[in-house]
Amino acid sequence: MAYDPNNVFAKILRGEIPCKAVYEDEFALAFHDINPQAPIHVLVIPKAPYVSMLDFSAEAPAEMVVGFIRAVGTVARQLGLEEPGFRMLANIGADGGQEVPHLHIHLFGGQKFGRMIAKA
Ligand code: AMP
Repeated sequence: MAYDPNNVFAKILRGEIPCKAVYEDEFALAFHDINPQAPIHVLVIPKAPYVSMLDFSAEAPAEMVVGFIRAVGTVARQLGLEEPGFRMLANIGADGGQEVPHLHIHLFGGQKFGRMIAKA
């Protein structure tokens, strides 16, 4: 899938629409989800035009891959999620339930999530 530069997270990265940022570095931006599904629900996105983990893992420069993954860990620790744990999720494509076509990692915390996912 070609990257759509008008997706909502691209607009957030360009500063065209606001977000409640919790972390930013040269590789990543993290902000609160506008429609939280848990007491803590933060999205971490790379500052680069990738649709999902598929094109990101195949095409992003190694420095960006490392920088982004490290940012995800930094955000989780800063949010205090290391203990008692949290859930990390990346939806990909139609069956994955991906709505925004810019790679994003969901970080969910503040409650117990049980095992794995709800049945469709
Ligand atoms: P996904 O279904 O994995 O693509 O998740 C997209 C997420 O983006 C959803 O949880 C939305 O609530 C969230 N979202 C959509 N627009 C915004 C926005 N402007 N600011 C923050 N989160 C958003």
